[in-house]
Amino acid sequence: MAKLTVKDLNVRGKRVLMRVDYNVPMEEAQGQMVINDATRIQETLPTLEYLIAQGARVILMAHLGRPKGQREPSMSLRPVAAKLAEMLGRPVAFTDDCIGEKVEKTAEILQPGDVLLLENVRYYNEEEANDAAFAEKLAKLADVYVNDAFGAAHRAHASTEGVARIIAKRGGQCAAGLLMERELKFLGDELENPAKPFVVILGGAKVSDKIKVIDRLLEKADTILIGGAMTYTFRLALGRKVGKSLVEPDCVEVARAALEKAKARGVQFLLPVDNIVATPVKTDKLNKKGKAIIELNNPRVNSSLDIPDDEEGVDIGPETIKQYAEVIHGAKTVLWNGPMGIFEDPRFAPGTFGVARAVVEATQQNGAKTIIGGGDSVKALNKAKLGDKVTFMSTGGGASLEFLEGAVLPGVAVLNDN
Ligand code: AMP
Repeated sequence: MAKLTVKDLNVRGKRVLMRVDYNVPMEEAQGQMVINDATRIQETLPTLEYLIAQGARVILMAHLGRPKGQREPSMSLRPVAAKLAEMLGRPVAFTDDCIGEKVEKTAEILQPGDVLLLENVRYYNEEEANDAAFAEKLAKLADVYVNDAFGAAHRAHASTEGVARIIAKRGGQCAAGLLMERELKFLGDELENPAKPFVVILGGAKVSDKIKVIDRLLEKADTILIGGAMTYTFRLALGRKVGKSLVEPDCVEVARAALEKAKARGVQFLLPVDNIVATPVKTDKLNKKGKAIIELNNPRVNSSLDIPDDEEGVDIGPETIKQYAEVIHGAKTVLWNGPMGIFEDPRFAPGTFGVARAVVEATQQNGAKTIIGGGDSVKALNKAKLGDKVTFMSTGGGASLEFLEGAVLPGVAVLNDN
């Protein structure tokens, strides 16, 4: 169902309360919190610039980190307000709270085109509890509600759901921002009736995280390409040896069911024909969580579908990259979620980067619509400097996955239908 968007609203002179995803990575440097990556702020600029041009009085709310209801200074949004002002090229006011009389007064005196950022909504436990009284206090700040935080839309929190419900109930409009609109278009509408062949690439760590997506996409895809550690649970289902690979033995049955469903529906379901394997060795060194660091030694190509007992699969192999690239080159629609291997280690990144290159080539040479479904595949594409060469990269992680599963996201459901 299409949702109302900011373009459908008359916002002149109105107080527009907009939920944004400013959960940016920060680091302490010389006693100050510094933003490492401002992509999430950048992504909101089109909606903000539109609202400013329309003469809205913009009030932004967001969360940062997990302060668990405490006023944790390292999780203040104040540095974000400064960064946003710099990026917008205009002042951004900041209040050190997100509710209360002082905030209401500041919101009230905003002029058309002014922008105000509220302090971290998660300084209150009531935010995640979707507390009605807290949502009511947020709603006091607004005439109109806009949600541009797709990455937070899978949670029914006060700022993503409760406040919108209250505003809608009193007759105020609740609309999607331009970023949210794009997410719903590419992860939703475009995949409803995808141009064929429709190739789905799924990787990452766990079958359990993606089984619902696999199940749903088996209804639509022509081909599904599997990579990442997921491979080994499928291999286990096929009676193969997986050595020390990351597997989920309790998911063997669902993996088997997916293979059978693929067969029954005539979906080509490809598993890697070769892998990079390495020998895990426990060291004396401890990681941040105090666990022993495991080194992955002696990487090599394993062309057998069985992995020796003392080795683990860490990436797809060269033959698989070739085979997958060929399939991807023939696609008209590609959806990709999850890396093909432990791409954070450059030795095990070629599989993911090879698939990334093939996806870019499909976009440029075959005019394919290529959609990257969030999370680590987005990180991998950016790492390979190919992020701007695909049709769409989702900004959501968990939200993207839930949306691809076909789940109704509370932060989307609450917006007015168009
Ligand atoms: P996900 O969030 O499910 O997309 O998983 C991403 C994570 O899966 C990344 O951190 C990868 O390092 C990890 N991963 C991918 N392939 C493997 C593998 N073969 N063995 C262990 N971890 C893997």
